[in-house]
Formats: sequence, C-alpha cells, structure tokens
Amino acid sequence: MMKNVISAVCIKCGAEHEAVPTVTTCKKCGGILDIKYDYRYIRSQIDRKKLADRKENTMWRYMEYLPVTGESKVNKLRVGMSPFYEAPRLAERLGIRKLYIKDDGINPTASLKDRASAMAVVKAEEAGMTTIACSSTGNAASSLAGNAAAAGFETYIFVPERAPKGKVAQLMVFGANVISVKGSYEDTFELSAQAIDRWGWYNRNAAINPYLMEGKKTVALEIAEQMNWEMPDYIAISVGDGCTIGGLWKGLKDLYETGMIDRLPRIISVQAEGCCPLNRSIMENQPWTPMEENTLADSIAVGVPRNPDKALNAIRESDGVPVNVSDEEILEAMKLLGSAGVFAEPAGATGTAGVKKAIAQGLIPADASVVSVVTGSGLKDVANAMKAAGEPLAIEPDMNLLLDAFHSRGLK
Ligand SMILES: *Cc1c(COP(=O)(O)O)cnc(C)c1O
Ligand SMILES: [Zn+2]
Repeated sequence: MMKNVISAVCIKCGAEHEAVPTVTTCKKCGGILDIKYDYRYIRSQIDRKKLADRKENTMWRYMEYLPVTGESKVNKLRVGMSPFYEAPRLAERLGIRKLYIKDDGINPTASLKDRASAMAVVKAEEAGMTTIACSSTGNAASSLAGNAAAAGFETYIFVPERAPKGKVAQLMVFGANVISVKGSYEDTFELSAQAIDRWGWYNRNAAINPYLMEGKKTVALEIAEQMNWEMPDYIAISVGDGCTIGGLWKGLKDLYETGMIDRLPRIISVQAEGCCPLNRSIMENQPWTPMEENTLADSIAVGVPRNPDKALNAIRESDGVPVNVSDEEILEAMKLLGSAGVFAEPAGATGTAGVKKAIAQGLIPADASVVSVVTGSGLKDVANAMKAAGEPLAIEPDMNLLLDAFHSRGLK
C-alpha cells in the first residue's frame, strides 16, 4: 500500500483508478493516467532538513514523492543526482544574468531516460513481470536495456533504423532483443504496441505508462534541492514525446503543493524547427497535428508525440515559452556546452540552443536566471558531435610539420 498515492486519474475523462502497477491506461476511455498524490501526507513526512540529512544519493532519495513503498526493490543502477553547475562564462556569452546546467548525460546509460527506466523496472517487478518492452527513438531503449539488465529482466526493444550507432551499441551490450524497424518512429511505436499486446510484456512506452513520468520528475526535485530551494525564473528542456517536460512540471508542482518551494519557474519548451508539433500548437493556438521528423536531433524527432496533453499542459500552466531551433543552432549549442566542459548529444543541447535563441529574440529578459537541462550525453552520437566540432589537425609525427601547421593556422 502506497500511503502517499491516492489514485491514478485519467487526464481525458477524469476516471479514478486504484494505482496498481498493472493498470497503465484508463479502463474507461483508454486515456493516459496521472498519479495523484496526497500532498498533506507528503508534507507531514518530509521537509528540507530531513532531506538534507539523507544519505541516499540517487533519485530514490525522494521516496516520499514517488509511487513506491519501503518494500519496493529500488536501487539497481545509480540513477539520478546528476551534476548541477553554474555556468558564468556561458551566461556572459549568451547575455543572461545566471545560467545553470543540469547534466543528465551523467547517468548510468547516459541520458535522463534512466529516471523513467529505473521506475519501469521497479513497477514491472511489482506487477510480477520479467519481460519489459518499449519502442524508442534510442535513449529510452538503451536505458531500459541497461536498467533491466541490472535487475535480471529480459527486454524487447523496438528502435527506428535511424537510431545512432552509440545507442544501438548500448542495446546490444546490455543484451536486449533488438528490433530495428525500417520506418519512422511512428511506425516503430505502432509495431511495438502490437507486439506488446500480443505477448503481454510489461509496457515501458512512456506515454502509456504513467509511472515513467514519476521517475522523470525527479530531475525537478534535484534541481530544486541543488539550488537550495531558490527556484530559477526559467527551466529549459527539449521536447519530443512530451513525457520529459510533463515530468519536469509535475515535479515542480509536487514541490510547490507540499511547500518545499514558494514559486514555480516558467518552462522554456524547445523543439527542432523541422519537427515541432507541440510548440507549433502552442504558438498557433491550434490543436496539435503531426509533422515530419526532420531534424538531426534524433531523440526529439517525434512527429506524432505520444504524450501531447501533459506536455501542452506543462507549457500552458507554467506560462511557458515555446522556442524552435534549427539543426545549425543545435550543433552550435553542442559547442557552446562543450566550451563549459559538458558533452551533449544534439537533443541534449537543444534546450541550451533554445535559451540562446530566447535571449537573442527577447523572449526572456537578460536579468533572468535560467536552468538548462542537458538530457543526453554526446558520446551517444559521435557522428553529429564531429559535425558540430569538426575534425582535428592530422599530421605526420614530425616537429617541423607541426610548426608549419601551427604557423599556417595562427596557433602558437
Ligand atoms: C527522450 C529525450 C528527450 C525528450 O523527451 P520526451 O519525453 O520524448 O519529450 C530529450 N532529449 C533526450 C536526449 C532524450 O533522450
Ligand atoms: Zn479515461
């Protein structure tokens, strides 16, 4: 029995369900569920001081805010409590008062998705399942494969054939059953849904399983604690299916409702120009419609977002700022982050690209404080990293040639 959880509420029709791990969609209308908490109870259990004294240095330090109990088998891999940096030189270059980087590429499988996958494994175990499946643009896949391997579970993973090699290599090393689908992410998702139906595997598809967002929300809890509960004006994040931004907002609201923070930041929702169905919907004040998946940021190349309602809600409720960036701007942001010692994959740098653009276009004021979440590591996609940063100086092992080369490049 989870004392902190009241129910699982359908965000479409409002029907309430008992929050058990086997119920992952609304029994009435098939809609997406949201885990509803007893904030009074949580408030009675936790405060800033208690948290500060806590030894647990993973996402599970926020147990009171998560849909688990003391008996839940958590803690396989060390997920969460990723680094949080102030980036003063980057702030100066971008022309903003304060800029902070939350580097979620520093997770066991190198993306923010580990927060959701760690939760998925716990929930699969509670549901009595030993096989978990998902479809993914790549990172949900590799993170599920890693977290499931650590728990001794079998996985079936569906990825579109365009998934970068680094991510596919992770899948193979973690021992997943990998199905590389010759088609778009949309095709991949549909095939996985049919297979999951047919074989009854535990479904880690992020939009379908409401517990995953609960895992992802821990990024917000960490940001708050790492900022000593003084919230920034804005938090920037890249958006694909919409579960990450939904989780970020849920975490912030949970903290606000339980009195841990006294103001809510606005969310900067960043998508790629070539694939921005959710931002477009906000900007044009129209229902969202599918788009082509036309960006090199593969993790957010999602033409048919699977969690649109929670994402749109997060942007609207937070009085958010939608920003679309080009592939060139994403590559440039990879170099910007690199100049601060942070290596991001394209979708991981997209939030920062959005911050830069939002400042340049006056969408956010120069005296603001901003946290930019880096959602995945650059090692996942070295081809695009080389595209961003170029090739090194290649030379024979000869000092004179080195001197010539330096001279002609104006070095030394
Ligand atoms: C999945 C992912 C996102 C976007 O998350 P959604 O829940 O799909 O919106 C952003 N960046 C990276 C690196 C990701 O893997
Ligand atoms: Zn419903």
